[in-house]
Amino acid sequence: MDMPAGTDQTLRPFLWRAANLYSDTEIVSRNHDGMQRYTYGEYEDRTSQLANALDEHGIEEGDRVGTFCWNHSRHFETYFAVPSIGAQLHTINPLLPDAHIQYIVDNADDQLIFVDQSLAPKLASAVADADGDEFADVDFVVMGSEESDHLEATPYESFIDGQDTDYDWPDVDEEQPAGMCYTSGTTGNPKGVEYTQQMLWSHTMATLTPQGIPMADDDVVMPVVPMFHVNAWGMPFSATAGGSKHVYPGPSPEPEDIASLIENEGVTISAGVPTVWLGLMEYCSEHDVDLSTLETVIVGGSAAPKSMIEWFDDQGVEVLHAWGMTEMSPIGSVSHLKSDLQDADYDTQLEKRGKQGLMVPGLEFKVIDENDEEIAWDGEEFGELWVRGPWVTKEYFKRPEANEEDFEDGWLKTGDVVTVDEDGYIQIVDREKDVIKSGGEWISSVELENAIMAHDDVAEAAVVGVPHERWQERPVAFVVPDDGVDRETLVPEINEMLADEYPKWWLPDEVEFIEEVPKTATGKFSKKDIREEYADQSLV
Ligand code: ADP
Repeated sequence: MDMPAGTDQTLRPFLWRAANLYSDTEIVSRNHDGMQRYTYGEYEDRTSQLANALDEHGIEEGDRVGTFCWNHSRHFETYFAVPSIGAQLHTINPLLPDAHIQYIVDNADDQLIFVDQSLAPKLASAVADADGDEFADVDFVVMGSEESDHLEATPYESFIDGQDTDYDWPDVDEEQPAGMCYTSGTTGNPKGVEYTQQMLWSHTMATLTPQGIPMADDDVVMPVVPMFHVNAWGMPFSATAGGSKHVYPGPSPEPEDIASLIENEGVTISAGVPTVWLGLMEYCSEHDVDLSTLETVIVGGSAAPKSMIEWFDDQGVEVLHAWGMTEMSPIGSVSHLKSDLQDADYDTQLEKRGKQGLMVPGLEFKVIDENDEEIAWDGEEFGELWVRGPWVTKEYFKRPEANEEDFEDGWLKTGDVVTVDEDGYIQIVDREKDVIKSGGEWISSVELENAIMAHDDVAEAAVVGVPHERWQERPVAFVVPDDGVDRETLVPEINEMLADEYPKWWLPDEVEFIEEVPKTATGKFSKKDIREEYADQSLV
């Protein structure tokens, strides 16, 4: 049956709702050219101007428009304008190496790229280094009113200036690709994931349920997770749908910026990777920061240490631990307490909240072990997590070989190794490639890392499996101690601490001190780099 016009599952009605029901609610942004503060009403006007400007520039339905930007209001304007004219918003991660950026722009065939002033040198270097025709058809718009010294680009304000503040939005098909993001690619080139209108719509609706990350008109929402990282976990869309006030922390936000925005704007919900919150926690230990408005902090991307959940509990802030993937738009599970756990003792609750949580409504999962059998939900058996649902991608963009490996019968094989307990809480015990196999038995590097990082004198720790003649692989810990720590005493303390909690064969054979744990472009520990760096040293 053909659906009547305007009934498809698309993003535009979220903007319609916010602009009409909450036209005076604010959008606040730490922009390159100062703090910006306006309302949904003005946001809708500027978004319409941008849509008209895109039309005038010749952007058509199905064209891809890239962004190379931090979290700010102009970037947010592209979030609704580009998909709502039927084009596709491709958020590019500026932290990637030049070669990856070239590959991504070429693979996606971007027609136009919006770029931040502060990121223009990085994009210019990718353009300059390009040896093919990756950027041959790409035009640039630089965010702000000024031209760029690095790229030939139209300033954003000139781009939209004089355009009509009304726009006759088309009826866009829900199967139309609306967004796109590349995964960091632990091996080989990054892989593109396309988000259709329907995927982003259903993801938004599911995250707004009480089992997701609900946001309402009394919330002040600050995504610290970058908008180039899976649409800042969808928050700009869900905050709009919920009618919340938005706060954008701008270019490379430091803990000080995050703290002052929380204080000054009354942030109630924020989200970011553990590194962000570790930074804020340290800042708070040295400064008097008022976190009293903050109700919920979403921690995801990597496992949230229990010590972090406890610290926020002490501040009266609830940590929601979320798990997701670029392939899943990205939210999969959230660690809400089930009602029958509300009266459990604190340690039991903490145990559950430290896990990656319960699948949000709309998704299904199963966990497959080495023998292709589904595991028991006993918190012990483990296997690879497979997921499917309306906002889970069914393929990678132009990558048939990866499709064959990572998808089966409509399921996405996540590559995450998990247990599931009796209550249905998922716990990631490792990423498949990071699991350490010693003498035929698995050791979770993630658990060891978290245990080591619980030591007061440890800033960061990464545990990797290194090849071993007898046991095939043994764990080695790479530890970054806090400044001024006596290393001679730290190693025995770490060993003692681990020995209290884990069997002897789990203990790292070596504890090596390093200056810094190498990170991927999305801020995660890059175990591949550690392995490569230390491959020649025979450590065990
Ligand atoms: P994102 O970091 O936005 O979740 P990516 O696609 O970059 O998305 O990475 C997805 C992977 O990150 C997952 O497959 C999983 O290995 C890891 N991950 C995401 N959230 C968590 C979490 N809460 N705990 C542990 N690992 C996580």
